[in-house]
Amino acid sequence: RAARNGEDGVRGYAPAMGQVFLRRFQLVTQFRQAMDTGQVEVHYQPKVALPERRVVGAEALVRWSHPEYGRLDPDEFVPLVEATGLVDALTSFVMECALIKIREWLDGGLRMSVAVNLSVRNLADENFPDHVAEALARHDIPPELLTFELTESSVMADPERALPVLRRLHAMGVVLAVDDFGTGYSSLAYLRQLPVDEVKIDKSFVLGMGTDLGDMAVVRSIVELGHSLDLAVVAEGVEDDAARDLLVEMGCDVAQGYLISRPLSEERFEAWLQARTKRGTGSRSETVLTL
Ligand code: C2E
Ligand code: MG
Ligand code: MG
Ligand code: MG
Repeated sequence: RAARNGEDGVRGYAPAMGQVFLRRFQLVTQFRQAMDTGQVEVHYQPKVALPERRVVGAEALVRWSHPEYGRLDPDEFVPLVEATGLVDALTSFVMECALIKIREWLDGGLRMSVAVNLSVRNLADENFPDHVAEALARHDIPPELLTFELTESSVMADPERALPVLRRLHAMGVVLAVDDFGTGYSSLAYLRQLPVDEVKIDKSFVLGMGTDLGDMAVVRSIVELGHSLDLAVVAEGVEDDAARDLLVEMGCDVAQGYLISRPLSEERFEAWLQARTKRGTGSRSETVLTL
C-alpha cells in the first residue's frame, strides 16, 4: 500500500508504524505496574484424562486487561515481556498463583496439578530451580503437582544452559512437558535426550485432524513416539467430539481444548469444577471429577 502511494506513501506509512512501536513501548513499560495493580491475571484451562474424562488439572494462562487496549492475548505481550528482564517476574507471579491454587485444592481434598509456561529466559537462569524449590516448600506442595511447559525452541536457544536447569527441575520431581510439539525443529533424537515426562501435541495438528489426513498422521505418530519414549501424551486444541474420539482411539492420555472448556478466570474455573464434582462416598474422602 505504501509503495502505491509513491513518495508520499513513505510518509503515509510512518504514523502507522509509529503507532505499533508506541503501543509496544507502552506495553513493555506498563507491564510491571500492570502486574502490581491486578490488571494481569491467571486463567485456568482444564486438562482431562482420556478416555474417562477425569479432570487431572489445568494449564495456567496469563491475561492482561489493559485500561486502554482492553483484553490482551499473551501472544501480543508475552514476547515483549520476554525481551526484558520482566519475564522472571511474570513466571514467578504465575507460579505463585498456581501454587496457591494447588494448595487450596489440596486443603479441600482435591489432588490436581497446574501447568505453568516457561520462557527461554527461565531456562537460562541457573537460580531458577532453587527459586522453584523454595516456592514449593513454602506452599508445602508435592513437586509432581507442578508441571512446567517449555518449547523445543526455548531449549535449543541455548541447550548448554537449559539442560542443567531442566535436569535439576526434573530431579526435584517437577513434571516437565514439551509444548507445541511438532512445530519447530522436533529432532526425535533430541527429544530422547531431554529430561521430560510429557509431550503436548501442537493444536494446529489437532485442529486439522478432522479435515487433513496429513495432520491426522502427525498426531498418530506423536502419540506413538511419545509412548515409545515412555512419555505421557497431551493433545491441545480439542474442539469437538470427533477429535476427542480419534484421540481416544489413538491412545492419547490427556485432552485440553474448547470442547472441555475455554480458559476460565479463577472464579469461573471454580464454578466449573464445582458443577462437575462428585464426592466419593464411604471411607474414602477422595473427590472424583467427571464431565
Ligand atoms: P500454549 O501454552 O500452547 O497454550 C495453549 C493456547 O491454546 C492458549 O492460548 C489457549 O487459550 C489456546 N487453546 C486452548 N484450547 C484451544 C482450542 O480448543 N482451540 C483453539 N483454537 N485454541 C485453544 P493463549 O491463552 O492465547 O496463550 C497463547 C500462548 O501464550 C501460550 O500457548 C503460551 O505459549 C503463552 N503463554 C500463556 N501464558 C503464559 C505465561 O504465563 N508465561 C509464558 N512465558 N507464556 C505464556
Ligand atoms: Mg491466543
Ligand atoms: Mg502451554
Ligand atoms: Mg501449545
